[in-house]
Amino acid sequence: MPGITPDTEVRFLPGVGPRRAAALAEVGIVRAGDLLLRLPFRYEDRSAHRPVAELADGDSAATEVLIASLSVRPTRRRNLRIVELRGHDASGPVKATWFNQVHLKQILRPGQRVLLFGKVKKPFAGAVPEFANPGYELVTGERERSAAGSAPLLPDAGGAPGEPASGDPGPGAHAGRIVPIYERVGSLTPRLLRTTLHRLLEGGAAVGPGQLPEELVGRMGLPSRRQALEAVHFPPDGASLAEFERRRSGAHQRLILEEFFVFALGLRMRRRQDRVDRPGRHTFTVDDDLRDLVRWVLPFRLTSSQRDALATIAEEFQSPLAMRRLLQGDVGSGKTIVAVIAALIVIHHGAQVALMAPTEVLAEQHFATIRALLEPHRIRVVLLTAGLGAAERRDTLQAVASGWAQFVVGTHSLIQDGARFRDLGFAVVDEQHRFGVAQRRTLVERGGGADLLVMTATPIPRTLTMALHGDLDLSELRELPPGRQPVSTLIRDSAGLPEVYARVREEVGKGRQAFYVCPLIEESEELPGAGVEARFRELSEGPFRGLRVDFVHGRVPAARREAVMSAFASGELDVLVATTVIEVGVDVPNATVMVVEHAERFGLAQLHQLRGRVGRGSDPATAILVVGGKPTESALRRLQVLEATTDGFRIAEEDLAIRGPGDFLGTRQSGIPPFRVADIVRDAEFLRLARKEASDFLASPAAATDEGTRILAHVRETWGERFGLTAGG
Ligand code: ADP
Ligand code: MG
Repeated sequence: MPGITPDTEVRFLPGVGPRRAAALAEVGIVRAGDLLLRLPFRYEDRSAHRPVAELADGDSAATEVLIASLSVRPTRRRNLRIVELRGHDASGPVKATWFNQVHLKQILRPGQRVLLFGKVKKPFAGAVPEFANPGYELVTGERERSAAGSAPLLPDAGGAPGEPASGDPGPGAHAGRIVPIYERVGSLTPRLLRTTLHRLLEGGAAVGPGQLPEELVGRMGLPSRRQALEAVHFPPDGASLAEFERRRSGAHQRLILEEFFVFALGLRMRRRQDRVDRPGRHTFTVDDDLRDLVRWVLPFRLTSSQRDALATIAEEFQSPLAMRRLLQGDVGSGKTIVAVIAALIVIHHGAQVALMAPTEVLAEQHFATIRALLEPHRIRVVLLTAGLGAAERRDTLQAVASGWAQFVVGTHSLIQDGARFRDLGFAVVDEQHRFGVAQRRTLVERGGGADLLVMTATPIPRTLTMALHGDLDLSELRELPPGRQPVSTLIRDSAGLPEVYARVREEVGKGRQAFYVCPLIEESEELPGAGVEARFRELSEGPFRGLRVDFVHGRVPAARREAVMSAFASGELDVLVATTVIEVGVDVPNATVMVVEHAERFGLAQLHQLRGRVGRGSDPATAILVVGGKPTESALRRLQVLEATTDGFRIAEEDLAIRGPGDFLGTRQSGIPPFRVADIVRDAEFLRLARKEASDFLASPAAATDEGTRILAHVRETWGERFGLTAGG
């Protein structure tokens, strides 16, 4: 199709009218280039396409026939009915049979042409060849069934009136080869998508030059973009079906690497933009005075990973490149003290430090911890949250602006309410997944390029870290401080609840506290009795009568939520019934039991995060995972991972493997970049490769050539908004 380029809107493509274009737009396909990247989700080998007369017993073949009749007949076995199709092509008659697929009568009608593919039976020479349970696809019209045995076809609305005809290219695209199977989009059947892509590629539509440097393509022996797109949609003769299905054909590799390469360039460019001129910052050195101070402040010996992280941070403080670092460590691994010691370096040199926490309770806890550590050494720590009274808040803002406040702890008030710093040198963001990239950038910009440390307790597999936080360098705390008692984890079903209640009462009897987690705020039909408020009433009137019990969840007004949380933190409550709002950060060392009802509804990483809320003191703690109803075998096996290990990173890997990245992080706030071809889990090795190639490329003269300029412009267009790339970056 001469004249068609990747920028051509799909509604101008033959066979795609305004109505279908609208359906395509809903899945993000607006231009021909988008459509070209909508890859088949599987392939079918229909290469043996033959006239009926040539079919032999035992063949795997595909044949296009005209349907003469369709009948359903019972068999002697109860519940077994056979659908029989009779038809023919120019060379002779053929039969096809399916077991129990009576609905086929609605789909396959006499007079229609259908493509059958599968195993052929022909018991003797003159017999009518028969396909047993074949896959099929209607040739005329735009309905499609690609494989026998899958879900019944949805009623097909067909094309809108006035929709242009698809111009089906016939068997050339649909049989006699390895055939691509696409996910249906609105009224665009897999077959119609195949037709459209076939015409697009055959017709010689321009596909654009691609975004991989020629040098890299040559060095790695990759196909050109055009070759890759052609092959990935219409695999060449003799291609390995298995390789294509695993997305490991050369064509797939090229497209995956290309997509990651552009992304990785975006990350590097973001990083390069953080290079700021900071005269004097290189004097943030560690001298003897500072060493003495640190020794005084430190309440314990650092673990070796805490020491490593600090050494890296201290080094980066002296670099002209602003620090953008992620400190990842399991709950309880001791991230706070790393941030506090790093802060000492900055404060020692006269600059200010800000720490931003996601909730008021957390901010208050940090404030208390940090004040206890630093005020004895005459370091001035202030708290800035929305909870301050007007006068107090004015004074605090003033103290921050004048530079009197050296360490400012707060919530997002730090970025919202016009807080001005005199000289912000170092910003720390705790529990980062609650904040967006834009928010942390805002905080850092308050400091004209302050160093940034992001702390997260959500251990995520490295592959996801690269995609989610690829603009940050990574430090990991992979060990817990010594002497920590691991939380022991028990799995019970609802029959075990009386024992669970007894356990909670026993701990409370010893002066300890308990978290009681329910999956829902309100009742639902699907999970009766699982709502926080209902469970709160039942528990406080029944098994926990006489104990001090309260509840929180996300819809409790913020002020009341804060009040309940701090009542629990200060020991005024025995049992807190809650949703996962308690997941983040709250530190109540006196809490020694955590019960989670309907534990099978939670992700492993989330359960791990939850149980990290107990065992923060010196007493042994227990997490009791109560499974609801009749747990499936696989649900139990999943939960047993938690019994077996307390290594958050291992749990995260398992969870990711079981649930896939979308669910793993929660689809809405996942923040996973929207890749079209690549998959960060399946293709992790390519992301690593792309990162290395991208950084080499940017550092080489190639980046300044015409090709380089074109590629970088494409990066800005694709990722500029997400990464805040400026024109020069
Ligand atoms: P998290 O990484 O979950 O934020 P914290 O920083 O809150 O963990 O630390 C958890 C607890 O461990 C705190 O009570 C802290 O004082 C203590 N802690 C941290 N580092 C060490 C260490 N090296 N030795 C002993 N205790 C430590
Ligand atoms: Mg913490």
